[in-house]
Amino acid sequence: MGTRLSSLLTLSAFSAIFLAGCSSQPAPQTTPTPATASAATTAGRQPKPEDTEYYTPVPAIVTPGSTNGAPPSDALVLLGGGNDLSEWVMQKDKSPAAWPIADGVMTVDKKAGGIETKRSFSNYQLHLEWRIPEGITGSGQARGNSGLFLASQGPGDDGYELQILDSYNNKTYVNGQAGSMYKQNPPLVNAMRKPGEWQVYDVVWTAPQFNGDGSLKTPAYVTAIHNGVLVQNHFALRGNTPYIGQPVYKAHGATPIKLQAHGDPSPPISFRNIWIRPLQ
Ligand code: MG
Repeated sequence: MGTRLSSLLTLSAFSAIFLAGCSSQPAPQTTPTPATASAATTAGRQPKPEDTEYYTPVPAIVTPGSTNGAPPSDALVLLGGGNDLSEWVMQKDKSPAAWPIADGVMTVDKKAGGIETKRSFSNYQLHLEWRIPEGITGSGQARGNSGLFLASQGPGDDGYELQILDSYNNKTYVNGQAGSMYKQNPPLVNAMRKPGEWQVYDVVWTAPQFNGDGSLKTPAYVTAIHNGVLVQNHFALRGNTPYIGQPVYKAHGATPIKLQAHGDPSPPISFRNIWIRPLQ
């Protein structure tokens, strides 16, 4: 499927593909051991349909949410409908997250700094909703800037950032607009909704793997859907996503997920309904 065609996937089409993908990679399960017939057993006779069919292991049953945005039965809810921030800590000192929250909507406190998950993750599927405030001011990178760090590697902006920004009629460098892997790869398309409306990210993250000497074994991969539209298609990262300089890989294991408190003076953005499904 070509990139352009991929970018036209609708939410329903994606959901079908996504669910198909999940059923082949639920969390956790044993490694499939297909009981395919060997060449020897089919030698000398006509192949049968059954030669290429197997029945174990059976994919785990996951009950989907009432909508595709609601957490399925095996998800860990990181931010639900209440005002519970217990899954989050301040990034700078690991103290309890101090961003304001009301009715399940959490708003960035730029002075307090970024927050990150208490738990660490490797590979996962993540759902996150975010909203640029109506009446947002500023331009370029100084307009509703935040970020979803798919793996935080330490203080500040260290890690791999899927950019959050108001990219509705707001020009900036394309590898820094909403849906970009910051400074590495622009989104395939701009799927922004207007300020004041909720935006949805659905992300599949495959963490990088490292050899014993710290060298890179396999890169990180990201697939990201913005408002039901594919914006990152199994993109292989070249390393972290620094503001200045080239990407580099620095060996790490499981890490927290971080939300950015960007220093621009525009009004802060909000988050709601965040859940995750760790994958093998
Ligand atoms: Mg950002």
